Amino acid sequence: MRATGLKKAFGDLEVLKGLDVDIHSGEVVCVIGPSGSGKSTFLRCLNKLEDITGGTVVVDGFDLTNPKVDLDEVRQHIGMVFQHFNLFPHMSVIENVMLAPVETKRADKKSARENALRLLDQVGLAEKENAKPAQLSGGQKQRVAIARALAMNPDIMLFDEATSALDPEMVGEVLQVLRDLAKGGMTMVVVTHEMGFAREVSDRVIFMADGYIVEEGTPEQLFGDPQNDRTRDFLNKVL
Ligand code: ADP
Ligand code: MG
Repeated sequence: MRATGLKKAFGDLEVLKGLDVDIHSGEVVCVIGPSGSGKSTFLRCLNKLEDITGGTVVVDGFDLTNPKVDLDEVRQHIGMVFQHFNLFPHMSVIENVMLAPVETKRADKKSARENALRLLDQVGLAEKENAKPAQLSGGQKQRVAIARALAMNPDIMLFDEATSALDPEMVGEVLQVLRDLAKGGMTMVVVTHEMGFAREVSDRVIFMADGYIVEEGTPEQLFGDPQNDRTRDFLNKVL
């Protein structure tokens, strides 16, 4: 995935002011920074939930700036998990996970079910396949949401504060799923406030402020020896 000079404005408000980001296959990149700095907008530009105002974004060989690009196809290669889980309440856990592959005709029901069970097992929820979302804890719902995103067999996974809405005691179980995914070689872009996680799991950390990438580096560099005043200031507040 490569963004070059990526800009995004909402009317007069310029939110992304020219980002250059290159993310390699298998890399785990955490994005940190103050609220309002453009982190969510950046992720949303990567799967074209937002139209970009300038620059280019190429994901998985698809040029998102090309008006002819097939968005459905692009999004099938990019999994996204939000702060709020948005599971379908009237469907069981396994039906939630099977839905997209069946609807997009990527799999017949039988193989979609087998794959969903395997993914539920991977996130530690095989025994909940027939539960309804309302019967699950927040952490369990978020793990189902991750399984649902994985069901499309994405090449890259985007996480936007996937643990921010959870009660503290449920954060760990969701981060463990992310950790396992990272170990398994998934390409991941993770917007997070969990600095311990970013430090431990990232190959690279990007610090954003005010629509810019202010600084990036290995976790050792960024947390251990930040070069920019704004990075230092932010880290002093959150660590
Ligand atoms: P972060 O995720 O880092 O907190 P966001 O990307 O959500 O930051 O927001 C960056 C800025 O863009 C904020 O000032 C926010 O108010 C603004 N913004 C985000 N989405 C929209 C939108 N749809 N319309 C107008 N302004 C928006
Ligand atoms: Mg955000």
